[in-house]
Amino acid sequence: EVVVPNIGSRDIVMFWQDNWLSGSLSVRFPELFSFSKNEFISVKSMKMTEDPIEHFHTPLSIQAYELFQQLSKIVQNTALTNAHDKWCYPWQNPEYSSIKMYHQLQEQEKAPPSFAKIWKCTAMLRYKIFIWLLLHDRVNVRNLLHRKKIILPNYKCELCNCSTEETTLHVFWDCPFALSCWDSITQDRKRGVNVLDEITIMAESFSSHFSMNIVIMGSWHIWMQRNSKLFQAKTPSLQSWRTQLRNDLLLILHRTKVKHRETFKEWIDSYLT
Ligand SMILES: [Zn+2]
Repeated sequence: EVVVPNIGSRDIVMFWQDNWLSGSLSVRFPELFSFSKNEFISVKSMKMTEDPIEHFHTPLSIQAYELFQQLSKIVQNTALTNAHDKWCYPWQNPEYSSIKMYHQLQEQEKAPPSFAKIWKCTAMLRYKIFIWLLLHDRVNVRNLLHRKKIILPNYKCELCNCSTEETTLHVFWDCPFALSCWDSITQDRKRGVNVLDEITIMAESFSSHFSMNIVIMGSWHIWMQRNSKLFQAKTPSLQSWRTQLRNDLLLILHRTKVKHRETFKEWIDSYLT
């Protein structure tokens, strides 16, 4: 992941995996990568294809399409040379240096600040892992199952009657059921264009130290409402979502710093009774 290839004319630099463009593209564009047909395609093959869309499962989601347009420009601007592909360190000197490698590895750990908030918050680990999967478009919504080629009778959202495809963004943020849940605990919030945006904006809308707990657990219980309908034929209910969220937040109350505990309890009592 650290060694940088100089792209020449040969076909050995992998488009998604290799660090040929300031980091691996599969990490920089995870949503688009999840639509790719061949994760081991080379830079050269991608470059030589007249229309790169043929290397993706279509239709792309709105978010993936925006990334596809960005990536298409990058591919267009990448020049192939007649030289052989060569692997080198990202610094100028061809010699290995432990210090330089250390700094290089440190630099690569620049995740969006929301990720740090997720891991730092007091929610239980399984909830944090869930939201991490959500951020990487890896929660098994029907859109993802479709992409994994799993045959289902339909791929529509289970929570509403909108006949909308069940994507991550829809279930947790755009679905009328999700909107009614979030609107019941926060007003006049802005909307984002992707899941990271939505999580960040929602957490900021509470403007408190425990905001990420609310977002994480709120998202989890939307997923639980969806699963209860799917597997136990229970009707999704705003009141049930609010009760479950309240119970879970009360469970982590004791983990909150003492100086913030009273404010947290007041918030729960004001918005989730
Ligand atoms: Zn829906």
